[in-house]
Amino acid sequence: MQGKPIQIRNITPGGAVEIHPTSRKKIYIRSVMGKIERLRRGTGLLFLSVFLLLPWLSYAGQQAILLDFTAQRFHLFGMTMWPQDLTLLAWLFIVSAFALFFVTALWGRVWCGFMCPQTVFTFLFVWIEEKVEGARNKRIHLDHQPFSLQKVLKKSVKHSLWLVIATITALTFVGYFTPIKTLVADFATFELGFWPLFFIVFFTLCTYGNAGWMRETMCTHMCPYSRFQSSMFDNDTVTVTYDRARGESRGPRPKKLSAEQVKTMGLGDCIDCNLCVQVCPTGIDIRNGLQYECINCGACVDACNGVMAKMGYEPGLISFTSANALKGKAAALLRPKVIGYFIVLLCMIAALSFELITKKPLDIDVVRDRANLYRETLNGSIENVYTLVIMNKEQHAQKVSISTEGLPKPVFHGKLSLTIEGGQMVRHPITIELDSQSIEQAVTPFSIIVTNESGDAVNSDSTFIFR
Ligand code: SF4
Ligand code: SF4
Repeated sequence: MQGKPIQIRNITPGGAVEIHPTSRKKIYIRSVMGKIERLRRGTGLLFLSVFLLLPWLSYAGQQAILLDFTAQRFHLFGMTMWPQDLTLLAWLFIVSAFALFFVTALWGRVWCGFMCPQTVFTFLFVWIEEKVEGARNKRIHLDHQPFSLQKVLKKSVKHSLWLVIATITALTFVGYFTPIKTLVADFATFELGFWPLFFIVFFTLCTYGNAGWMRETMCTHMCPYSRFQSSMFDNDTVTVTYDRARGESRGPRPKKLSAEQVKTMGLGDCIDCNLCVQVCPTGIDIRNGLQYECINCGACVDACNGVMAKMGYEPGLISFTSANALKGKAAALLRPKVIGYFIVLLCMIAALSFELITKKPLDIDVVRDRANLYRETLNGSIENVYTLVIMNKEQHAQKVSISTEGLPKPVFHGKLSLTIEGGQMVRHPITIELDSQSIEQAVTPFSIIVTNESGDAVNSDSTFIFR
């Protein structure tokens, strides 16, 4: 039996405009103002302020946050972390990941829509674009115009402003890894070294490219989070949702029609104005249901609420709500998935806190002299030589004393008390001498203990070798 051929039609997202048939469709985001836009501007401003100011914060006379990869040391508010302490950072990442899962299970991708740097910078760049080139229609018109002095001027101003912001961003970012005051001074006087300059140029191009050109493709094609976030969703997760039952059938109608007349025409509340699509930074139509491209930014909520107000309808045709709430079911906050994420999150916070609380201000490693296992002195005693590697994990100087446990009446050659500068590591040679008569075995295990003035002690096991 031969069926009817299926009609296929190409659909172009409403917010996207095809500039070249083979290239990505450019999205011209329409600006919108409303409660959610104000909230997002607030959170974006908070993120930018924290990001820009943090590296300038000082603590105990030093940069409060400095991730010094060259010296293999991380300084965090007076605490110095060495490669051995990377478990702390691992815990921090695990806590952040579970906090994100927990928030996602409750409120969907609010991180993406409100705090993700990609979103914050994209909205900032779009704002600049609008200030320079005008509203959405003017920008579309400008892009389709042939080259003119006015077009070149507008494009130059826009790209220059984007590059200035991208450079400030890159300088700040690199300032987390190298002392920012010196970095900015060297940048201003053109005295930057090769690597700082390389990374500043690299991150400038990344910011400029991501927020100016790639925009939504970062979220839809490169960000792994958008791919697996739906596994954290359930029917009670709050996401941006279109109320299909209320909105359909969609269609334009004169504003002056009464509710009764609209109903008689078989129309729902959606007037099919397409504004929700034009304001969408990823160019999708939320009326088609939940899509992985949706970053939960709520721009379509503001746009639609504005339309509803103009039409004299109730707001909330598009809103932050859950599938169950739309069906009129009571919202269930405490559900297995949320409780599960919360319990795991608490356990991870407890583990991180334990690591932080029990973190010692010092660390020690003992290296035996491998060339000479032991040596006999003229008076018949036995000597072993060690190098103590002592790390000061605080940012202030610490005076430490050295002792041993497990050796019979040791005699030390070398300083038993020394001062280590903040965040520094010293290699301290020491020789231990024992009376040969007191040594009972070829290999005697013992501990070397380093104690600071506050009584905090760290120890490392070693052996005393004879024969
Ligand atoms: S903004 Fe609201 S009314 Fe306009 S098309 Fe979107 S859902 Fe329909
Ligand atoms: S559909 Fe709405 S909430 Fe989702 S990305 Fe687009 S504008 Fe933002």
